[in-house]
This record gives sequence, structure tokens and C-alpha cells, in this order.
Amino acid sequence: MPITQQLDHDAIVIGAGFSGLAILHHLREIGLDTQIVEATDGIGGTWWINRYPGVRTDSEFHYYSFSFSKEVRDEWTWTQRYPDGEEVCAYLNFIADRLDLRKDIQLNSRVNTARWNETEKYWDVIFEDGSSKRARFLISAMGALSQAIFPAIDGIDEFNGAKYHTAAWPADGVDFTGKKVGVIGVGASGIQIIPELAKLAGELFVFQRTPNYVVESNNDKVDAEWMQYVRDNYDEIFERASKHPFGVDMEYPTDSAVEVSEEERKRVFESKWEEGGFHFANECFTDLGTSPEASELASEFIRSKIREVVKDPATADLLCPKSYSFNGKRVPTGHGYYETFNRTNVHLLDARGTPITRISSKGIVHGDTEYELDAIVFATGFDAMTGTLTNIDIVGRDGVILRDKWAQDGLRTNIGLTVNGFPNFLMSLGPQTPYSNLVVPIQLGAQWMQRFLKFIQERGIEVFESSREAEEIWNAETIRGAESTVMSIEGPKAGAWFIGGNIPGKSREYQVYMGGGQVYQDWCREAEESDYATFLNADSIDGEKVRESAGMK
Ligand code: NAP
Repeated sequence: MPITQQLDHDAIVIGAGFSGLAILHHLREIGLDTQIVEATDGIGGTWWINRYPGVRTDSEFHYYSFSFSKEVRDEWTWTQRYPDGEEVCAYLNFIADRLDLRKDIQLNSRVNTARWNETEKYWDVIFEDGSSKRARFLISAMGALSQAIFPAIDGIDEFNGAKYHTAAWPADGVDFTGKKVGVIGVGASGIQIIPELAKLAGELFVFQRTPNYVVESNNDKVDAEWMQYVRDNYDEIFERASKHPFGVDMEYPTDSAVEVSEEERKRVFESKWEEGGFHFANECFTDLGTSPEASELASEFIRSKIREVVKDPATADLLCPKSYSFNGKRVPTGHGYYETFNRTNVHLLDARGTPITRISSKGIVHGDTEYELDAIVFATGFDAMTGTLTNIDIVGRDGVILRDKWAQDGLRTNIGLTVNGFPNFLMSLGPQTPYSNLVVPIQLGAQWMQRFLKFIQERGIEVFESSREAEEIWNAETIRGAESTVMSIEGPKAGAWFIGGNIPGKSREYQVYMGGGQVYQDWCREAEESDYATFLNADSIDGEKVRESAGMK
């Protein structure tokens, strides 16, 4: 029997979040038998595992949703400008039902190993329980920020109280009423959970190492008129977001922060601060992401806001970032974050000046002081972009494991979609894909994969693989893109995850493409217009021959 008849599926997609659902739907449309395998017991990906109090989108609902399905657009109703995690999870489950995806989603199936069979040209996917499935194509939809990390603090396993990570939150929630709680981490996750914990905990101790520039979101209800407007204009909204460098539907500023008068600068900063969220970062001035001087002006404006809100001057000062400027970390948005530090039950501790010494059986030891706690919440982030891919064994040609390839050759991909040495393997939100509101590259990526795999099928191409050369070209463009931003200067100072700076020992490479989401889409389009030449040019597959036999130019 030919091997293709012994395969379980045409494609196996790992992960049932935004990416997995979009890919399953789009590959079904071209007749590929596609199966999602999902490690957890639910649909929703990042929104299923990050069920901590306060979790919600940092992007507004109208560009944090898919535009491809008319049924979903017409029938789903968003209720909040920044939907909370429960609402986003409900949206994804609604999509799974409405598009009849559930029957091709296998839950509780954690992948341990995926191994390329070079002789028979298929992927063997092996699960934690020892079972396996075979497919021609393997697609990672495991998420860019899904591999949670705990810090390397001595004694972390000795704590006798309860320990939680924001990215592995108990499904039934946690009752913190009256408890003494410690939080480690003030990134986007910490910033969302801290105000909620403060309302419940008896005492909340916030261990802050690097403060952030938090922009208030100014959340709002979505009324029927607003929802209808969005329904009627989804295509235009999505189109504008896909042309925006950060994948958001926002206006383009025209002035430089450095060149306008002080009064005008203040007026613009104030008005966009009022509008809230990413509007401040994107709509104030042309150069907050490109000029260190402009970024410092925004930094000083936010510091002045912190000092205005936080009553205790010493606490306000500690909350003001000084070692890097605005945009040096992924801009987090807040919901009453700074006000929280006016509460008498909230205590801010400086984990930079005085690092956490260790975790004891009773709590956190900070300097010489032991803070006795009932619970510790780790809001300590992720091994971003590469973590999910290097945490399992993805074994390509010649037995090479993906993590070893990247460790040896450096982080290399062909526009974030494929990797040399790993035939018939695609990634959604792979490393070196845009630094952006992620729903936009997820949808566009799923549609790109649909057209690419249709092309492959129609021409009878058995194997696709990019060359090392294609990866070097994309790596050079990734570096160029990053170096045109302040992120390349400020990110390393801030230990940002986008440069691998949040993990001791992780190589400092640009994990994302910062040259703009719209520029990235141009590269994807060009690849397509060239009949995917760079995806069929690895030495191993004799791209020339493949193209010739498929009747291509
Ligand atoms: P993060 O931004 O990496 O923040 C981790 C925090 O843990 C930092 O404050 C870090 O301090 C701290 N930390 C780590 N080890 C520590 C130690 N030993 N001692 C003291 N502090 C320590 O992680 P995150 O907050 O989970 O966010 C990651 C990304 O996920 C975000 O940037 C965003 O892209 C995404 N996210 C999005 C949303 C949303 O859209 N709604 C919500 C949450 C997260 P240092 O900074 O000093 O290292």
C-alpha cells in the first residue's frame, strides 16, 4: 500500500487557539484532511490557559477578531472594547461550533516528538501517552507566548503555600479573599492581575524588578450601534489593520514629537492618553518607535502621569521606569494599575535594588526580610516565540532537532513560516513573524498557508523546504527591521522578551520581525508571486527539479 494511504491525516496542526482554528478552517476549504491536536482540555489556546483574574485583550475587539467568516461576523456580539479572557474564549468556542471545527480537534493530546520520515516523506507525531499519528504536513499553531517560565530563584520548590503561574491558572479560579499574597512580575500579565488581587487580598506584596510604562486602556461597553458599525465594516477594518505596522486599525500620526512645540506635544500626548491603550503608542507622533529622543519625551510624559496618580512620592518614584525608555518593552495597557498602589493593603517592593534572595517554606525573602505569604503568583512570562517549538522534539532531516539547529546556526526561518532541514513543516506565529496585534498575522498566515498548500497539491509537489540562503536573507531583513526602531536600543536595556532578554542564557536575537506588519505581508505576497520559489529551493529537494516537473517557471 502506498504510504500516503497509511497516513492518518493530510495535515496535523498542533494547538487549538486562534491560529489552529483559522488553519483548520482554511485547510478544510481546500479539501485537506486536517486534525488539530491540543495539549490541554479546552479550546482557546492562550485564552484557555491564561485564566487569571483581570486577563483581557490589550487590543480593541474590532481588530482582535477574524474577518474571514461572514457567519461568525454576523452572529457573534462583542460586549467590551477590550474583551476579557472569558469572552475571548467564548468567541473561539463559538467559532469552533459555528464552523463545525470540533470534530477535527483532539484535546488532551500533548505532543512530545514530531519526527520527519525522510524515506516515506511524512511526519510521525508522538504524544505523551505513547500514541502516534502520521501526516504529510505538520503545522505548529502552538502560540508565540505559551511556554510559561518560572524564575530561577533558590528555594522555589520549598514554599509550603500555594503557587500559581498566570499562564497556568486553575480552571475553577482561586479565592484570595483576605490572604497574604506575593506577586513576582510586572509585565503585561502582572499589570492585569495586580489590581484584581488587590481588591481581594488582605495584603498584597508586589515584587517589581523592572517597572513598565503602563498606558491606561479606558475600557468601555460595546453598544448595539457600535457592534453593528463594526459588522458592516469588518473588511475595511481588517484591511486597515493589515496595512498598519502593528496590525491595529489606527490613524497615522503626521508630526514628529521632537519637532512640535512643547504645548502641542503635551496637547497630543494628553488627548491620546485619554483615548487609551495602544492609541497612545501609535497615534501620537511618527517617531515614538524610531527616535530615542521622541521615546524619551513619551517616557517623561508617562512618568508625570504616574506621579500625578500615585500619592506616595517614594512609591511613585519606584514605579517610574528610568533605565530604558518607552517602547523598550512591549507596551502594556492597564486597568487602574497605578491607582492600585494608593491602596493601604498593597506594598511595592524593589526587587532590583534589593533582589529576591530566595523563596522559603513560609514566603519570599527579600534582602534580609522574610515576607510570610499564603500564596505566590508568578507573572514571570514566557520563553517567547521559540519556547514552544524547542520544548518538544521536532526532528527534521538527518535526525536534527529544531532546538539544536537554532542553538547551532542561530535563529533562522524563511519569513517565520518554514525552517531549512524541516520539510513539509509550517509555523503560525513562528519566530521572526511580526511584532504586532497577533490576530492579523494569524488570519493572513492561515490564508497564505491555504494558497501555498493548494499550489503544492495541484502541482503534485511531494515535499517543500526552504534553503539556508532564504533564511539568511530573511535574517538580514529581520535585523534591518529591528535596527530601524528604538526597540533595538531600548529592548536590551529592558531585558525585553522580543530580543530574548527575559531569559538568562537565551541567545540575544530578534525573536520577532519589527520592520512592520505591512512590510512583512509584502514579503509573503512576493513569495507567492514567485511561485513560492524560496520555499522550494533547498538542496535536499532539488528545487530546480521540483519546479521543472511541476511545470513552473
Ligand atoms: P513579561 O513581560 O516577560 O514579564 C515578566 C515579569 O516577571 C517581568 O516584570 C520580570 O522582571 C519579572 N521577573 C522575572 N523573573 C524575575 C525575578 N527573578 N525577580 C523579579 N522579577 C522577575 O511577561 P508577561 O507579563 O506574561 O507578558 C509577556 C507578553 O505576553 C507581553 O509582553 C504580551 O506580549 C503578552 N501578554 C499580552 C496580554 C494581552 O494582550 N492582554 C496580557 C498578558 C501578556 P524583569 O522585567 O526585570 O525581567
